[in-house]
This record gives sequence, structure tokens and C-alpha cells, in this order.
Amino acid sequence: MNRQIHMVDVGGQYRNMKSEIDQAVIEVIESGQFINGPKVKRFQADLENFLEVKHVIPCANGTDALQIALMALGLEPGDEVIVPAFTYVATAEVIALLQLTPIMVDVDPNTFNLTVEIFEKAITPKTKAVVPVHLFGQCSDMESIMDLAKKHNIYVIEDNAQAIGADYTFSNGKNQKSGTIGDIGTTSFYPSKNLGAYGDAGAIFTNSDELAAKLRMIANHGQGQRYHHKMIGCNSRLDSIQAAILGVKLKYLKKYSNARQEAAAFYDKAFADEDWMQIPTRQHNSTHVFHQYTLKIKDGYRDALKDHLFAAGIPFGVFYPLPLYEQEAFKKFVPDDLDLPVTEMLCQSVISLPIHTEMDEEILNHISGVVKGMFKTA
Ligand SMILES: *Cc1c(COP(=O)(O)O)cnc(C)c1O
Repeated sequence: MNRQIHMVDVGGQYRNMKSEIDQAVIEVIESGQFINGPKVKRFQADLENFLEVKHVIPCANGTDALQIALMALGLEPGDEVIVPAFTYVATAEVIALLQLTPIMVDVDPNTFNLTVEIFEKAITPKTKAVVPVHLFGQCSDMESIMDLAKKHNIYVIEDNAQAIGADYTFSNGKNQKSGTIGDIGTTSFYPSKNLGAYGDAGAIFTNSDELAAKLRMIANHGQGQRYHHKMIGCNSRLDSIQAAILGVKLKYLKKYSNARQEAAAFYDKAFADEDWMQIPTRQHNSTHVFHQYTLKIKDGYRDALKDHLFAAGIPFGVFYPLPLYEQEAFKKFVPDDLDLPVTEMLCQSVISLPIHTEMDEEILNHISGVVKGMFKTA
């Protein structure tokens, strides 16, 4: 095949809505309202509607969103925050940055997410918050996590950077969007995320009026009334140009999720008989929006598959090659007896294939054919 294959095709996606995006960007430039302009307020309201959440607080990126969320909880240095060791560094970094103590825990070997059993074992009298990460596009089991957290007065911050648009179903049949279930939810609009800006951007969600007021204030220099600063905050804004772009793309988010789900279903079917790998497991109470399509490769063949794909010119990702507890920056937070065998195993065996909104059968056929040819060449 002589078409170029992308891990994420932001260029192809843009070309399919170029006039709308260009128009939205030009409107901002012509208005001159680059900071907190009407496009920001409009996007905030549209996202609140889409997520059915009371408050969206736009901010500069997903890492800031996590940091501001933690700052709003009024925690003290040394307070413990439970976080999965199998995640992007940002989730734990902000905990350490605020002089809180990250307590790294394992994840479920099939869904790659935190479970209530793992959460429960990590609780101590110092536990003040937990950050479930909805990894690769499906929700952690929020109902059981929320129940346990309430029992122990622990705040729940959902790191929803990878699962925006996923639906979680409670045991009573009620649906809620990922990121709107915990006390606070955070997301990233990094360009390659499911709802991606053309630069950095992020947002925070909450249904609490009190937390929303605090989050908004922290993101704006701790400022209530102009030039009156009630608390130490930071400067974290969503700029109007990014808001305009996100406003256009939000209209297509449902379509984007469907396109990703269709690509995933194609791969699933193509790999149904490959017993040297495990295709993604669906959590029974969450939809999966496939930020990544991640295979678990058995018997140590992951690195051989990497070489095989590389030779065939097919891009791939390994999320994540190193667990948090092996990162030099986190050394001082690693207890001597820390043993997270699932995280360890996943870092050795996961590989993510290209998945995005512009895939077609030719591309999917080609990629899955190459993957399946792994033991036929050589
Ligand atoms: C992308 C991501 C972040 C950070 O978002 P940025 O916008 O890059 O700061 C945090 N957590 C997870 C799980 C992510 O995937």
C-alpha cells in the first residue's frame, strides 16, 4: 500500500471540515477577543450541554486541569493521593508538585483501569483523594469507586483525558458521561486526544457549585473580584482560537467516537483467531471511545511485533513503556516493598495500533494483515 499511515490523522480530519474551522478561527482574529472571548464562553456552554454537567471550567491543558482540581480540595502536604502506576506521568506529577504523596497502585490486567479492590487496599488514615484514570477510552468502575470513596471521605478526581464522550452505566440503568461522576473530572484537548485542539487546551468538570467557584478562581490567579486575590492560584486559560476550533469539533465528537469504535470492531474481528494476543477487553458498564486500540501481546513477542511493524512502515505506540515507580523523578515515592505485577507485565506486553477518525477499510486491512503476518515472514 502506498498511502501514508498515521497513528492519528489530524491533517486528514482538518481537510474534511476546513471551511468551518477556518471561518471560526478568522472570526476570533477579526473580533480581537483572544482571551475569554465569546468563543470560550460558547464552547464552555456547549460542552456543559454535551456532558450534561453543571460546570465546565476551561483551562490551558490537561496537566493544569489535574493540578487545579487538586488545589481546590484544600489538601495538606503529606496527604495521600492514590494513583494508578500505569498512566501518563501528568496524573502523578501534579500530586508530587503540590507536596502531596502519590500512592501508586496496580490496575486490572484486562481493562487497564483502577478497580475498587485495589483502591480499598491502598486506603490509609492519610488518604484524601483518588485519581482513577479512564485509560485508553473506557471508564473505570465509577459506581463502586464512588461508593467506597464516600464511605471514607475521599475525594475522587477522574482523569478523563483519554475517555471524553464515553458513557458509564450505573446499576440502576442511569447513564452518565465519563468525567462527570467524581467530585471533579479533568480532560485534555491535546491535539491527538479524542477531542483535540490545534495546540494545548484542557478543561475541568464538576457538578458542585462550591468547587466550581473555587476552581475558576484558582485558574485565574486566585482572583474573585478583579485585582483582589483571595488565594494563591495560577494562570491557566483556554485561548479563544482553541475554543473556536474545539467548538467546531465538539459537534463531531459523537461521529468521531463512532468512527473509532468501527475501526476497533474491524481490528477485533481481524484478530479473533490470533491466540498470541489479547484484543481490548470491554468493561461491562462503560462504552469504549478507543483513544487507543491496545493489544496485549503474549509470550514476550511484543518487541518482535514492534520491529515487524516498523519494518512495514506502520506506526504504533507503546503506552506506557515505563511504570511510574521506575521513573527517576518518582524514586522517593516508591516504598521498598512496592510490588505491582500487573503494571510490570503491561509495560512489557502492550502495543497500540493506529486508530483515528479517518480510517477506511483499505488501511485497516493493510494494518491487520501486516500484524497477522508476524509469524509468516522472517
Ligand atoms: C494527555 C494526558 C494528560 C495531560 O494532558 P496535557 O494536555 O498534555 O497536559 C493527563 N493524563 C492523561 C491520562 C493523559 O492521557
